Amino acid sequence: MKIRTRFAPSPTGLLHIGGARTALFNYLFARHHGGEFLLRIEDTDRARSTKEAVQVILDGLDWLGLTPDEPPVFQSRRAARHVEVAMQLLKAGKAYRCYCSPEELAAMRERAIAEKRPPRYDGTWRDRDPADAPPGVKPAIRLKAPREGEVVLRDLVQGEVRVRNAEMDDMIILRSDGTPTYLHAVVVDDHDMGITHVIRGDDHLTNTFRQIQIYDALGWDKPEFAHIPLIHGADGAKLSKRHGAVSILEFREQGFLPEALCNYLLRLGWGHGDAEFLARAEQIRLFTLEDVGRAPSRMDYAKLTHLNGMWLRQTDDTRLRDEVVERLARADITVSTEAMARILKLMPGLKERAKTLVELADSAAFLAREVPLPFEPKAEALLTLENREMLARLAGVLEATPFIAEALDAALRGFAEAEGRKLGQVAQPLRVALTGSTMSPGIDATLLALGKEEALRRIRAVAA
Ligand code: GLU
Repeated sequence: MKIRTRFAPSPTGLLHIGGARTALFNYLFARHHGGEFLLRIEDTDRARSTKEAVQVILDGLDWLGLTPDEPPVFQSRRAARHVEVAMQLLKAGKAYRCYCSPEELAAMRERAIAEKRPPRYDGTWRDRDPADAPPGVKPAIRLKAPREGEVVLRDLVQGEVRVRNAEMDDMIILRSDGTPTYLHAVVVDDHDMGITHVIRGDDHLTNTFRQIQIYDALGWDKPEFAHIPLIHGADGAKLSKRHGAVSILEFREQGFLPEALCNYLLRLGWGHGDAEFLARAEQIRLFTLEDVGRAPSRMDYAKLTHLNGMWLRQTDDTRLRDEVVERLARADITVSTEAMARILKLMPGLKERAKTLVELADSAAFLAREVPLPFEPKAEALLTLENREMLARLAGVLEATPFIAEALDAALRGFAEAEGRKLGQVAQPLRVALTGSTMSPGIDATLLALGKEEALRRIRAVAA
């Protein structure tokens, strides 16, 4: 049997980090078993489901490298099929028409609450003669669910969970306006898509018992279910905006690499020994549902940032250069071809110091700027008259020095000695002149990345 999993988001305008983790687990599980990973857009809420909201999901998955193996299925386009299956249940006597008005249902609920019973549909129309149907009322269709026995779920993460049928009422599968309910649509779609494993958030656990009733009424094979714990914030509450970023696009904006985010999301609530830093191929090889924990995991932004720094250092310099150039362009800093070459050259030093692409772009910006550079206040304070005079003398020395690492190093040391200064007392004002800042990669590397002509232009722009 070919394993087929699916990610089934409702397009609400953002791809939530919890959803991204669900998608990742579905993807890894399918890949681990040589199966397929599918996408279903649950867009039955027509008011909220815009084209833009769908695009956000597609872009987010694409960015995370979780591209589905087949074109997405749109739930809204399958309404006719949902109706067909509801009719099939009706014909088989597994469902019935319910003519209760909203007022009757409300009264039923109030009665139940007053009598301290759970507010459930009382089965008014379950065995009633359809000839009693009030004229002109459009009925809803309800599942004739078993009242005896229980539903036993052997969840691949939660273990065995049981619910007595008596605790569930006859759910609506088709509303009186002819639209399918969510519970029904999901069952029909998962069946038709050949889904073998439903991996989703444990907030859906109670839905599963009702969905199993639908599968059983239809006599369909059930998929395996795995309900994964949700992601919480550091305070233990369900993760929301007040904890920090929750939308995938926001994480992207904040300079996280998709590899780092996926690596972090996988480690959140899934473990394999001490393995911390895992690339995709390794993730696929190691992923099993047995290793998913049952407790909610806590989002730790600091840990994610740390992991992102580790991923940055592993990432190819050309790709990082492109990311940096794009970010600088968005900040209205034009990057010339020369500046692009400088950024690439200094990338090994820059990426050692940055934890996010935002920091990386910030630290690379000076390479794209032109004289006169903007100076950070702390940097500007170092441009004293004395230092500017020293820089003028240093420019003369560097003019005569070939721009290769050893020669530059020797020249700076010799110059410092001749000036009676420590190397740092030369390097720091020089760094300020070259970068506008007191922090940069090694001074030799910075000089080399700028090249002789540009380095001298910058030094002379501040030299006295
Ligand atoms: N559309 C549901 C959601 O976004 C998921 C349904 C499912 O996975 O079965 O929460």
